[in-house]
Amino acid sequence: MIEIVTYPDPVLKRKAELVENIDGNIQNLIDNMSKLMYQSSGIGLAANQVGEEKRVIIFDINYKEKGKNLTVLINPKIILAEDKIEFEEGCLSVPDFQGKITRKKFIKAQGVDRNGKSIDIEAEDLTAICIQHEIDHLNGTLILDHVSHLKRNIYKRKIDKLMKRSDHEQPKLL
Ligand SMILES: [Zn+2]
Repeated sequence: MIEIVTYPDPVLKRKAELVENIDGNIQNLIDNMSKLMYQSSGIGLAANQVGEEKRVIIFDINYKEKGKNLTVLINPKIILAEDKIEFEEGCLSVPDFQGKITRKKFIKAQGVDRNGKSIDIEAEDLTAICIQHEIDHLNGTLILDHVSHLKRNIYKRKIDKLMKRSDHEQPKLL
């Protein structure tokens, strides 16, 4: 079973690769990602958030109606972006952190769906924010990279401390 990878795992900083074949592995990945996204009450997920360095994102801003509005976008690209919007974003891979981030309000994105069919998506507001956030993941960018140095450093120190503490508390198995 796959799990959400969290900061500071290096996979989150790496650029995911283009999907050339939508084979059984990719289909499985999409199914597992959507299960996990709904379980985690997330509205979007990128493949490298589960440790798979593939350009696959999924999203559903109406996540409470599980599966009805799920969009799968493989090799996504933003081809048009207009106007600005500011929104307080969180991320499943950056627990206990929120930051106000400015993104484009309207976007046009392209990619292929899980059947390999080309799709064009025109999105605004939360859907547009979500697509930009997930494509950021595929490029190794986190919401931490969008906030001030100060805010980022405070979070990094907090995580460093937590990691040291859990090291300390772990029993030594000899
Ligand atoms: Zn995220």
